[in-house]
Amino acid sequence: MEKVMLNQIQNQVATVNNYGREEFEAPTNITIKGILRLLMANVDSDNGKRVISLGLGDPTASSCFSAPAVAQQAVVDALCSNKFNGYPPTVGLPQTRIAIAGYLSRDLPHELSPDDVYVTAGCTPAIEMTLSILAQPGSNILLPRPGFPIYGLCANFRNIEARYFDLLPDKSWEVDLDAVEALADHNTVAIVIINPGNPCGNVYSYQHLKKIAEVAQKLNIVIIADEVYGHLAFGTNPFVPMGVFGSIAPVFTLGSLSKRWLVPGWRLGWFVMNDPTGIFKNPKFIERVKKYCDICGDPATFIQAAVPHIIEQTKEAFFTKTLKMLKQTSDICYEMIKEIPCISCPHKPQGSMTMMVKVNLSLLEDITDDIEFCFKLAKEESLILMPGLAVGLKNWLRITFATDPTSLEEGLGRLKSFCQRHSKK
Ligand SMILES: *Cc1c(COP(=O)(O)O)cnc(C)c1O
Repeated sequence: MEKVMLNQIQNQVATVNNYGREEFEAPTNITIKGILRLLMANVDSDNGKRVISLGLGDPTASSCFSAPAVAQQAVVDALCSNKFNGYPPTVGLPQTRIAIAGYLSRDLPHELSPDDVYVTAGCTPAIEMTLSILAQPGSNILLPRPGFPIYGLCANFRNIEARYFDLLPDKSWEVDLDAVEALADHNTVAIVIINPGNPCGNVYSYQHLKKIAEVAQKLNIVIIADEVYGHLAFGTNPFVPMGVFGSIAPVFTLGSLSKRWLVPGWRLGWFVMNDPTGIFKNPKFIERVKKYCDICGDPATFIQAAVPHIIEQTKEAFFTKTLKMLKQTSDICYEMIKEIPCISCPHKPQGSMTMMVKVNLSLLEDITDDIEFCFKLAKEESLILMPGLAVGLKNWLRITFATDPTSLEEGLGRLKSFCQRHSKK
C-alpha cells in the first residue's frame, strides 16, 4: 500500500521534466491537495494518535482562526434580502468592484478604477484567468521555486512553458534576479511574485519589490502579484503591495478574502489590473479578459453583495488578533525546530501561514528523501507535513503554522521524536 502511493508521487514528479531543464524539479502536474490525500491515506489509524495536519494551509480547521462575525452577518443579510438570487454580471457586481478597488487603493499611490477589478471565485480562478489571458503560442512564464504548484499546473494546461527562478534561503528568500534575467527571452510573458510568501513565510522589503519591478520593466514583462496573504505580515518588514510599482511595470494583482478574512470556503477573490500607464488598457485585451469572465462564471451573487460590508465593517482588532496568533504560532515553530538536530530553518517566518525547513538527510538512518520522510511520519506519528518537492524544493518540508498552539506543540513534539528515532546512532 505504502509502496504504491510512494511510487505514485515519485512517478508524477518524474514526468515533470517537460522542457529538458536538468535542474528542473518543480512539479507541474501535482497539487498540494493531491499529495495530502495520499499522505492522509497512509496514516495508521491503529497507532492511537489523533491526526495532526500541518500540511494544508486552511486555518479554519482550528478554532483559533475563525471568520469575523460582521462578515458572517453581511452574508446572511445579503442572502436574506432576496435581492441577490440572480446572475451577477460576469465581471462582478458593480458595488463589489467598487469596494475592492477602494480597499486596494488605500495602499497605492494611484487610484484604481472599479473597471480594473474582476471578481473571481477565489484567488485560484484568478491565477487560472491570468495565465489563460496571457497564453500565446510559444510563450513562457517565470515562476518562483519554491512556489505555489497551481501556477505550474495551470501553465501546463495552457501550454505555457514554466521556467523556474530560485528564491534564496540565505537572503530571506529574495528573488534571484540574475537568474530571472538569464531565464527570460522574447517569449516571456510574465513573472510571478508571491508576497507575503507561501511556502517560505517571507515578506519582501520595499527596496526588493522595486528591484523586481525594474527587472520586469527591462524585460518588458508583466508582474503577476499573488497577494492572497496581503497584510498577513507580522515581522519587521511591513506588507507593501506590488501595485505600488505599477508605473514601473504593469502589475496584475491577485487576491481573495480567503486568508485575511479566514474564509477560504466562501470563494471570493479578484484579478486586478494595476496598470497606471495603461500598457494593457487596449480594447482588445480588455475584451479578452471579459470573454474569459464569461467562460468562467462568478462567485455566488450574495457573497459578492456582502463584500462592501465585509470590507467596511471588519474591525482592525480582528486583523490584529490574527496577526498576533500567527506571530505566536510561527515563533513556536521556529523555536521548536531549533531543538531538532536534523531539521533547520534558514529564515524566521515574517508573514503568511507557512514556512520552509530543510532536512539534513545525512543524519538520518533509513530515510532517503522528503517524500519518504513525510510518508513515514504520517504512518508512525499521524502527523502530516508537506514534502518540499510538492512546492519545488527537494528534501525540504513545508510546515503550516496556522493552527492552535496546542496541536502545533504536540505535532512538533512528534516530529522531534520521529527524528530521534530515525537518527544515525
Ligand atoms: C491559498 C493560496 C491561493 C488560493 O487562494 P483561494 O482564494 O483559496 O483560491 C493562491 N495563492 C497562494 C500563494 C495561496 O497560498
